[in-house]
Amino acid sequence: MEPLTEREIRAAFVNCTKGEAKRLNMPRDLAEQPWEDLDYLGWRDPQAPDRAYLVAVLDGRPTALALRRSTAGSWQARRSMCSMCLTTHSGGVSLMVAPRAGKAGQQGNSVGAYICDDLACSLYVRGKRDAGAGARLHETLTLDEKIRRTVTNLAAFVAKVTGA
Ligand SMILES: [Zn+2]
Repeated sequence: MEPLTEREIRAAFVNCTKGEAKRLNMPRDLAEQPWEDLDYLGWRDPQAPDRAYLVAVLDGRPTALALRRSTAGSWQARRSMCSMCLTTHSGGVSLMVAPRAGKAGQQGNSVGAYICDDLACSLYVRGKRDAGAGARLHETLTLDEKIRRTVTNLAAFVAKVTGA
C-alpha cells in the first residue's frame, strides 16, 4: 500500500469519536513501516495493550478501525487461525472486537474477528515473518492469490463494521 500520514490515518477512523481518533496512539515509527509489503497497517496501542487499530485503503479510500483485544476465554492457549490471512499460531491470534460505525455502535453493537495478535497478516502471507512450524497451510495458491484473499477477508470485516 502507499504510505499514509498520521493525519490521513486519524481522519480515516469510522468507529470511534473524532476526539478518540485525534488522541489515540499512533505507531512510533510510521515512516519506517514496510508499506510496500502491507495490505493493511495494524498496530497495538503501546500504552493500552487491549487496544489495537488498523487502517487499509479500500476502494481508493483509507478506512481505519479501532479494535479491542478480547482477553477472555481459553482459546488463547489453543492453536488458532487468523481469519484474515489464515495463518495458524499457537497463542498468536486474538479475538479483536470492533464497535460498529454510527448508531449501531452507539447502541453497543460490535463485530469480532480472530486476527494475528501482532496484526502483521501481510508479512505472514509474504513469508516475511515466521509463525513457526505448521503455520501455513500447504496451498497451491500463488502469493498474489493469497494476498487477494487476505484483502477480501479484511474488506468483508470492514464492511461489517461500517454496515456498508
Ligand atoms: Zn493474520
